[in-house]
Amino acid sequence: RPNSAGINVDIDSEREPFEAEVNAFMDMAWTAAPVINGKSLYSELKESGGVQHKVTAPYDSSVTVGDVIFGDREHVEQAIESSHQAWPLWRETPIATRGNCLNTLADLLESNMAELVALCHKEAGKTIHDAIDEIREAVDFCRYYARQDQVFISQKTRSFDGEPVSFSRQGRGVFVCISPWNFPLAIFLGQVTAALMAGNTVVCKPAQQTSLIAARAASLMKEAGFPDGVFQLVPGTGSEVGHYLTSHPLVAGVAFTGSTQTAMRINQTLAGRQGEPVPFIAETGGQNTMIVDSTALPEQVVRDVLRSAFASAGQRCSALRVLCIQEDIADHIIELISGAMDELVVGLPYLHKTDVGPVIDTAAKEKLGRHINQMKRTQRLIKEVELDACCDNGMFIAPIAFEIAGLSVLEEENFGPILHIVRFNARELPQLVDDINATGYGLTLGIHSRNETTYRWIEKQTKVGNSYINRDQVGAVVGVQPFGGQGLSGTGPKAGGPHYLYRFTQVKYDDTPA
Ligand code: NAP
Repeated sequence: RPNSAGINVDIDSEREPFEAEVNAFMDMAWTAAPVINGKSLYSELKESGGVQHKVTAPYDSSVTVGDVIFGDREHVEQAIESSHQAWPLWRETPIATRGNCLNTLADLLESNMAELVALCHKEAGKTIHDAIDEIREAVDFCRYYARQDQVFISQKTRSFDGEPVSFSRQGRGVFVCISPWNFPLAIFLGQVTAALMAGNTVVCKPAQQTSLIAARAASLMKEAGFPDGVFQLVPGTGSEVGHYLTSHPLVAGVAFTGSTQTAMRINQTLAGRQGEPVPFIAETGGQNTMIVDSTALPEQVVRDVLRSAFASAGQRCSALRVLCIQEDIADHIIELISGAMDELVVGLPYLHKTDVGPVIDTAAKEKLGRHINQMKRTQRLIKEVELDACCDNGMFIAPIAFEIAGLSVLEEENFGPILHIVRFNARELPQLVDDINATGYGLTLGIHSRNETTYRWIEKQTKVGNSYINRDQVGAVVGVQPFGGQGLSGTGPKAGGPHYLYRFTQVKYDDTPA
């Protein structure tokens, strides 16, 4: 089955009826709480006085989205125990049955697309294009992993002295899945469905900011037929729920997507915990660059830079942070970028005309604001887009571009719509590549060049997980562009690729003398 088609909202006759469907959900109030053994504890915890955290929309803090009751250490214990109990049966459940649950979930995501888009607008501030792509990607992960049954075909062979031997794979036990807010459905379900398809049971903790989306996904999983107990949700903070989960001795593996700093912290927790050593799958941040040499096509570069740096308000792990332009064409490209930035529409995410929505929350806005102020003091401002009044009540950061002295000016990933530009001359290309590698990150790299020798050389020399030549560098497609970094950007294996499920399994070797 091909990847999910979604809805083409650039065609009026497709968009208008879909917008009407989405609007019907825009006033809905969603809730989230721990889901243990197939049951949401929301009503129970509310009655017993559990703290309800009000969720407001990133684009307007006066708009309420719903409320969340976080789990605590006791819920972590219950969730892990429930998953531990459910594992032997799930491990023995036929692969085809597990795959059917994933495929049914994909169908349910598609049939509930309007509600999920409304929720992505409201809780995550996603534009209509991003929200639809979010759901399509979640659908693609489900269907792609459901098809990966070759992972479990046991391989029969003979040892050198003729004994029949076989290798087979099975799940490891209770997998903990910890996800970020920037792909609140796609990454959340991508981790969870991979772990389940591989024969593990799962306890997952979504990012605090997007617990409502995760809770809605959990209810669709129940509807899709995943048996009670194989999947538990514990919303809460990373420092409490995340920490207890990753410290627990019964955990058999951790799949994490988020910042490099948090990955390092979890790595330490895992090293210090009691219990067996377990696999840690970490997909983390990047200091993503694009190299443009003097043979590149300027209009194409500008189109790809704008999408790579500013789509999703720069809140993609793959987003372009540092554009490196060969000096011969730098002034021309900078002028074109500056002009094109004037055309960006920043505003309310549910309006079709909006290109750039809000950032996720106050903390993100303040952190990005501090970086922008520092850049304004020390580097050359090229362009800052003006915000209009519709942005006044929300977490908006105006797309902005600076020319900076070099990559070393940047200490960490800046997760927002901020583009940094560096000039280089042809002789400096090897040094530039060294500088890119010296950041230690290795997630995405864009290259714009018509010279095959140049782009092949750059691609070979740079330590990155995903390179994109003469195109934008965001929006990896499941099954087509398996995604994941190296170095500070992650451990691999690549999500949405043929090797991903292997890491969620263990191999058994069976030697049966004749
Ligand atoms: P984050 O702050 O690292 O949080 C990620 C998750 O980890 C959240 O659920 C968080 O909980 C949890 N967490 C925090 N501290 C923890 C601890 N001590 N133990 C266990 N869990 C803990 O990242 P984010 O801000 O949500 O997401 C943005 C980052 O993700 C960026 O760096 C981006 O580049 C990266 N990312 C990478 C990829 C990729 O594929 N490489 C994809 C998407 C995003 P809270 O709810 O408390 O925050």
